[in-house]
Amino acid sequence: MQEAFLYQKFDGGEVLCQLCAHYCVIASGKKGLCQVRENVDGTLYSLVYGRTISQGIDPIEKKPLYHFYPGSRSFSIATPGCNFRCDWCQNWEISQMPREQHFIAGQKQSPEDIVASAARSNCRSIAYTYTEPTIFFEYSYDTARLAREACIANVYVSNGYMSAEMLELFHPWLNAANIDLKAFRDETYRKYVGARLQPVLDSLKKLSDYGVWLEVTTLVIPGVNDDPLELQDIAEFIATELGPDTPWHVSRFFPQYKMDQIPPTPPESLQHAVEIGRKAGLKYVYMGNLGEEISTNCPTCGTLLICRNRFELSNQVDERGCCFHCGEKIAGVGMAGR
Ligand code: SF4
Repeated sequence: MQEAFLYQKFDGGEVLCQLCAHYCVIASGKKGLCQVRENVDGTLYSLVYGRTISQGIDPIEKKPLYHFYPGSRSFSIATPGCNFRCDWCQNWEISQMPREQHFIAGQKQSPEDIVASAARSNCRSIAYTYTEPTIFFEYSYDTARLAREACIANVYVSNGYMSAEMLELFHPWLNAANIDLKAFRDETYRKYVGARLQPVLDSLKKLSDYGVWLEVTTLVIPGVNDDPLELQDIAEFIATELGPDTPWHVSRFFPQYKMDQIPPTPPESLQHAVEIGRKAGLKYVYMGNLGEEISTNCPTCGTLLICRNRFELSNQVDERGCCFHCGEKIAGVGMAGR
């Protein structure tokens, strides 16, 4: 077992885990809320270090990150566990495994193994994804440092519930993140997720301030967060606090896990969310999970610059990262297609 980073010891054997915004106080012999960090006689351990439950080579667009080396491949890994318990989780078999099955599966792989596999498969980045990467922080941190030495970028796909201490330690190694902003109502976070809204907003602002390339995703769920006023609150927060260049992905919900009775999001609701985003001043708003082509148009002249479908990507952003037609700078990292 790997001793955890970011915790404090108290007299009597309790510890305070400072990895995520739950800040669990854990008695000796007990685990934290995520069930993957255990206090053994006053020392906190990560139970998932080096235990990969899922890995694959994905297009970076699948994260989704549309403005970070478009068309590149990302070596994607996860360990079991999560600090949230979303009723609509699409990866609940692995994210909730430690809580529901009281079991932690996974194949032993060192950070060196992961970076070697990413390099061998010509991946531009390593994505810490599928479950919540914050709860396998020590593993991702060691991997990320090695990846940087190999000129491979690091990407988090996260619920944004990191502690300020974790972000302070990790941001120099993190190149990009897609953060879920699941709702803009604290009661929604408490009811469906088992967390609070404010720490997610705080993480988004910190990541933006640190200069990590940031994209935001909202899964639009009928009856949960599809109220136009709530979507407007999300869009305005992104535009004012993170900047109008921040891409916002509004994704279609499909029934799953504990929400198998709720119908899929009507495409019109996503279209409405796009209009709300544009009205709030966001330059790049994308619909997700619709199975259609995804386009990036120049926000100034409207020229089609990047066209993505399941099989290929065409990219006409020029070598300076600008629209070839009007010269507008296209926000992002490694945007040039030629
Ligand atoms: S990572 Fe979060 S949920 Fe897990 S033990 Fe630490 S504070 Fe608790």
